[in-house]
Amino acid sequence: MPNMSLKKNEMPSQEPNVRNKNFLEVALGYTEEQALDEAARCLNCKNHPCVSGCPVQVKIPEFIKKITEKDYEGAYQVIHETSSLPAVCGRVCPQETQCESKCIRGIKGEPVGIGRLERFVADWHNANVQEAPAKPAPNGHKVAVIGSGPSGLTCAGDLAKKGYDVTVFEALHLAGGVLVYGIPEFRLPKAIVQKEVDGLKALGVKVETNMVIGRIVSIDELMSEYGFEAVFIGSGAGLPMFMHIPGENLCGVYSANEFLTRINLMKAYKDGSDTPIMPLQGKKVAVVGGGNVAMDAARCAKRLGAENVYIVYRRGMAELPARKEEVEHAEEEGIVFKTLNNPVKINGDEKGYVSSMTCVEMELGEPDASGRRRPIEKVGSEHDLPVDCVIMSSRTPPLVLRSTARAASSSTRPVLPLTRTSTPAATPSRALPPSSSPWAPASSARRASTRH
Ligand SMILES: Cc1cc2nc3c(=O)[nH]c(=O)nc-3n(C[C@H](O)[C@H](O)[C@H](O)COP(=O)(O)OP(=O)(O)OC[C@H]3O[C@@H](n4cnc5c(N)ncnc54)[C@H](O)[C@@H]3O)c2cc1C
Ligand code: SF4
Repeated sequence: MPNMSLKKNEMPSQEPNVRNKNFLEVALGYTEEQALDEAARCLNCKNHPCVSGCPVQVKIPEFIKKITEKDYEGAYQVIHETSSLPAVCGRVCPQETQCESKCIRGIKGEPVGIGRLERFVADWHNANVQEAPAKPAPNGHKVAVIGSGPSGLTCAGDLAKKGYDVTVFEALHLAGGVLVYGIPEFRLPKAIVQKEVDGLKALGVKVETNMVIGRIVSIDELMSEYGFEAVFIGSGAGLPMFMHIPGENLCGVYSANEFLTRINLMKAYKDGSDTPIMPLQGKKVAVVGGGNVAMDAARCAKRLGAENVYIVYRRGMAELPARKEEVEHAEEEGIVFKTLNNPVKINGDEKGYVSSMTCVEMELGEPDASGRRRPIEKVGSEHDLPVDCVIMSSRTPPLVLRSTARAASSSTRPVLPLTRTSTPAATPSRALPPSSSPWAPASSARRASTRH
């Protein structure tokens, strides 16, 4: 008999006033009992609408059925058929706009907690299964993957499962892309990312870190001298962006990218880190933007002891692009939302440090090209917000590989015919169609790897 409860089993979590002072994982994961209870809410629908909402088409009802049978490893194997990163996706995928948004149980009540169940299964596997997966038979073809973020790792995993000899080249000293440099430990522990990378290595994927493609080796050289027959570019969307308003050169202004990289990748929150950030104990911090990156930056600032942390966003609460769960967690942790506010200037003291930020109030007009209501400045609404630190988190544009352009223009080949990218802007002439999914890179990677 299915469990007809209208509500999902709640995710056990650290108390807000405890967790906003530490970097340990916020969500603690379902117990076996909770997972069984939640799995029993699935109706195992014949036409499984939830699968159509998943960018990598995980066979959702099948894996949930295995949970109800207490065959947790079987459930893991079902997920792993189409997803190379189950423990990561179970934690940070925006299920509420993907699989769960299509779940039949969501019509009357809350959808099945698909993401929470995926996480339970992946964590069970990581805790209980030691054997390495069988290596697929080699097919004799070599592929290079540039970048080890979710898109690069997904592409590498899919190709390795088909027998390709895959090498991932990563510019940083650690593999994982945004999973290690951007998303904080309290949302995605780095040991989990490492486990997923190790799982890919066990499938035969080679990972070369500290390899900036385009500086150390060009794409042409990868193909002509190192024998790679195809290259997938998953170089990400990690370029820092500023608003180009006065005062952005003051001390205490960071891009969210730099702020989070210092904290997550370089562990600035630990004593003795080589790449510290300014002391935030008792300070006032403004984070400009309303996406997941902004929420992560704000919650990190709070954990570093900031007294007041503001999200300054030019639209309203309903328009915040961040995951709903992240917004709720941020609010619970004491982050103050100053929505319908837009910064126009950052002001400094005589020593060149940030002292305040001038903002204007906004109101929402008609929807713009993005479908969201356009923010319009309220005349005469200028006011100062006293702050010591400003973190700019408005957009992160794609990181275009310089060597790609060079290689493409200097190449005797017609624009690297076997090259695929995760970021449409990287090589416009060979771009894959953009996906509507926020976890788009993984689905782009999936599309690229299916054109093998
Ligand atoms: C802080 C933050 C939080 C986020 N939270 C979420 C979330 O909760 N849910 C969600 O769905 N999405 C989230 N996103 C968005 C999501 O992470 C991105 O869509 C996704 O990471 C992009 O994956 P990617 O593999 O294309 O790029 P990345 O993860 O950025 O990886 C690209 C990798 O390529 C490497 N690289 C770049 N150039 C070179 C080169 N020349 N040679 C070798 N390597 C190179 C980079 O060092 C990097 O490691 C978040 C993003 C950020 C920044
Ligand atoms: S739509 Fe919901 S109830 Fe139906 S199979 Fe998918 S998860 Fe189960």
